[in-house]
Amino acid sequence: MPRVQSIQMRVLLWGWGVLIAGLALAFWRYGATLDEETARDFERDTLAKLESVQWMLERGGPFKEPRDRQDFLHSLAGHMGMRISLIQGGRVLADSSVPFGDLEKLDDHSGRPEVVAAQGEEVGQSTRHSATLDRDMIYMARKLPASFGEPDAVLRLAAPVSQVRMHVQRMRWELLAAAIPLLIGSGLLLWLLSRTITSGIAQFTEAAQAIGEGDYRRKILFYPAAEFQPLAEAINRMAKKIKKNVKVIENQRGELWAMFEGMSEGVMVLDSKGRILHVNPALSAIFPRASEFIGRAPLEATMSLEIQNLVDSVMAGERSERVSRQIELKDRHCAEMTVVPFRDHKYRPRVILVFHDTSEQKRVERVLRDFVANASHQLRTPLTSIRGYAETLLDAPPEDEAKRREFLDIIRANAVHMAKVIGGMFALAKSEREGKRASELSASVAQSMDHALKNASFAAQEKNIEIELEPLPDNLPKAAADPDGVLQIIDNILDNAIKYSPENTSVRISAASDGQSLALRFQDQGPGITPEDQKRIFERFFRADSNGVDGAGSAGLGLAICRHIARNYGGEVWVESPADPGTGTGSVFTVRLPVA
Ligand code: ADP
Repeated sequence: MPRVQSIQMRVLLWGWGVLIAGLALAFWRYGATLDEETARDFERDTLAKLESVQWMLERGGPFKEPRDRQDFLHSLAGHMGMRISLIQGGRVLADSSVPFGDLEKLDDHSGRPEVVAAQGEEVGQSTRHSATLDRDMIYMARKLPASFGEPDAVLRLAAPVSQVRMHVQRMRWELLAAAIPLLIGSGLLLWLLSRTITSGIAQFTEAAQAIGEGDYRRKILFYPAAEFQPLAEAINRMAKKIKKNVKVIENQRGELWAMFEGMSEGVMVLDSKGRILHVNPALSAIFPRASEFIGRAPLEATMSLEIQNLVDSVMAGERSERVSRQIELKDRHCAEMTVVPFRDHKYRPRVILVFHDTSEQKRVERVLRDFVANASHQLRTPLTSIRGYAETLLDAPPEDEAKRREFLDIIRANAVHMAKVIGGMFALAKSEREGKRASELSASVAQSMDHALKNASFAAQEKNIEIELEPLPDNLPKAAADPDGVLQIIDNILDNAIKYSPENTSVRISAASDGQSLALRFQDQGPGITPEDQKRIFERFFRADSNGVDGAGSAGLGLAICRHIARNYGGEVWVESPADPGTGTGSVFTVRLPVA
């Protein structure tokens, strides 16, 4: 900032400047007048003295001796404080300042200007240096009348110039002496006046600073002069208004922050350089480490080039309208991202990214879609069969009782199959709907196993299949799973083992744990499963033909349900076959579940 002079100094300098200029002008004008007046006074005074001396000379004379005249003039000059000379035809007859004996030595005075002028009727006057007295003198001379006795005699009075000048000088000094207190007094007054202004300004500055720092209750109640009133009122009004506005802004900020923190959508606010400025807690559900990338590019937090490209195009001013995109994330997660561009106070492009996690929505949609597609596909065939046989029985029932029973058996078998398909699909949909909750769950494997063995005992007895349960380890931990889910898995695997194994075989069950997870192993003596079928048996509705077992009543959903449930708990189900490499038969199903 350029150096600016203070008001106090300006007022002082300007005030003094004007005063000094005025005084100088007055001094100059008064000086000139004084000079003239003094000269005129002197002239008048000398003329009067000239007349007095003339009168006294006429009365005092005639003098017997020239010396008497000289002495008379000398004593007269002493009284008057002037030099008196009597000149006739250039010769000095008498002179109060020259000893009588020296009169003869004096120059011829006929050429002196005052003497020359006095030859006429007027008074001669001259100011010049006197060689006799060696100083500047003012002369006034006048011709004496003939009655005086000395024809053409000139009487001359002289006074030193310094005498006149001294008087003027003294007057000037007096004037100057009067100006000094005037200057000091006016300076003091100006200083006080300017101090009033500057103290007012200082007071206002302090108040404005306090308001700027947030002290909105600050008010200016006292000010040094009435002229400050409008300014004081304006500042007070401004503080009040700012206080009100700040309150509104703070409330809005609080509300916005609460919304930002509490909203279920993940939000990422970017700064004017396209770097992450804020992220809300919900964003961590989509990008778990997003909060570690404050000040970095969105690409680093999201690992998505698509997001970065969209942000870049907005920051480059290529896009100004909001745009929504579906983005694929890791682990089958997906989200709908909305890029909301806006301009900041400097009209720079800025962006807010809003992420709505649509994984759950997509999953439910997929489940529903699959459910409907699978249901219609799986139910169509048995329904067509039921309808066909039912219509035959109604419209043209066979004569043969055995044939009619066969038709009814087919209808019942299809109905059983449909019930199984629907039950399986519901179980699958349920397992998908429940999602992961493993951390809250615990299931006793022993209890589930006991339950499942009871469920399977009837079917096992029918085929004379022996179920051998190896003694469970004493310290077998509980599984981090829902007991119903564990039972469903065991039920399905045991059901298959019995269903696909020939009569008079056995199924061996064992359990073990490594502390982190526990494994349940089911080994049967069935036909085994080919490597190709092993890859597909966990798919929905897949039923292998290679095991040579009639699949009536099976829906091809059992293993898909098992795997789904196990995975929901963070576990897994897999198969190894053949269990007996010698004969190439038998399958081993293993279920791994995390420990609670
Ligand atoms: P479902 O048993 O209803 O057909 P699953 O999903 O339970 O459906 O089984 C899928 C297929 O896997 C079965 O159709 C069967 O071919 C084969 N499978 C399952 N368990 C065994 C097993 N223990 N031995 C041989 N094959 C099996």
